[in-house]
Amino acid sequence: MVKFNTLLVRGGKTDDNHTGAVNVPIYNSSTFRYPKLGAPVRWDYERSGNPTRDNVENVCAELEDGDRGFAFSSGMAAIHAALSLFKPGDHIIIGDNIYGGTFRLVNDFLKPRGIKFTAVDTQDINAVENAFTPATKAVYFEPITNPLLKVSSVQEISKVAHEHDALVIVDNTFLTPYLQRPLDLGADLVLHSATKYLGGHSDIMAGIIVTKGQRLCDQIYNLQNSIGAVLAPQEANLLRRGIQTLNIRMDRHLANAKKIIKYLEANDKVAKVYYPTVDKNSRDYRIMKREANGAGGVLSFELKDGLDAAKFVNSLKLIILAVSLGAAESLIEVPAFMSHFEIPKPRRLEMGIKDELIRLSVGLEDVDDLIADLDQAFAKI
Ligand code: PLP
Repeated sequence: MVKFNTLLVRGGKTDDNHTGAVNVPIYNSSTFRYPKLGAPVRWDYERSGNPTRDNVENVCAELEDGDRGFAFSSGMAAIHAALSLFKPGDHIIIGDNIYGGTFRLVNDFLKPRGIKFTAVDTQDINAVENAFTPATKAVYFEPITNPLLKVSSVQEISKVAHEHDALVIVDNTFLTPYLQRPLDLGADLVLHSATKYLGGHSDIMAGIIVTKGQRLCDQIYNLQNSIGAVLAPQEANLLRRGIQTLNIRMDRHLANAKKIIKYLEANDKVAKVYYPTVDKNSRDYRIMKREANGAGGVLSFELKDGLDAAKFVNSLKLIILAVSLGAAESLIEVPAFMSHFEIPKPRRLEMGIKDELIRLSVGLEDVDDLIADLDQAFAKI
């Protein structure tokens, strides 16, 4: 087996290519010819499979050390498919800080259809343990949360979940398999908004699931094909291309983030910086060190009370005011008014998301330019 960095560039290749092209072509074909009636065919209809999509699905399976990968039209489509494994009456424990869109799917779509959920602080393993009921079928969480970058242990949660015969589903969007491989830590299913770091260039929406074990793989395949929110071949190709440079992009995201954190920590207008390596005595830091190769390229910081976050972000010239993350370009947002605006203010404050909190997805630009941009915006508040 070749190493991870080689898999990124060369993994998942299919050998149906008769032209010598080094990349799998974009097969813009929704249907495939049968040589004759009854003859077995590898592909028949794009929703069930397409060679371009197969390629990126195979790459992702290899990168996450799973048996099979599945590509969807968005991260939410992947999450919908994963949570469609469950039926009315089933109970699922979910992290209380998971992505807001996942909460929307849970509250507006899945709960009314009879699936039960308990939101739990997954940093607290006792709280996870206490949330199990005889009907619990899964624990679903993000090992590093948005926007406060709180760390939960995949190993500890997997151990407890498996003692209760429950599946462990991990959203690995923030860390990517370059920094953490949840299946190797005990999870059963890993998923991504590949719109973020895997794609890496703000030019596609995509979702990925990787699973282990024949039964789970068959179930997800059936759901992917039945629900039909598959990734189109053009997008699959862009995702393949993004993945090829994941390692060097993540290294730069991490290096830039490290320098920006140092800059923010020394800034007297910043009340607090949120990133798992900030407090080296914390449990978050210990878990991160044990289970991941880095904390990723997203960080948050809080302005001192009374300082105006809107004025700050509106003053930036280089860093782009936008939701999303994991892009080549640096993206900044104010969760209280953008990504988390749907959460009622009292609950938001309870979660620790103040109006002064700012989230930065550190991009690949020259870090001196990013710091200069932050500096001139700080001077205006
Ligand atoms: N999971 C996480 C952690 C996310 O941040 C997002 C989107 O921001 C999603 C899932 C949903 O993915 P998508 O926007 O690709 O549907």
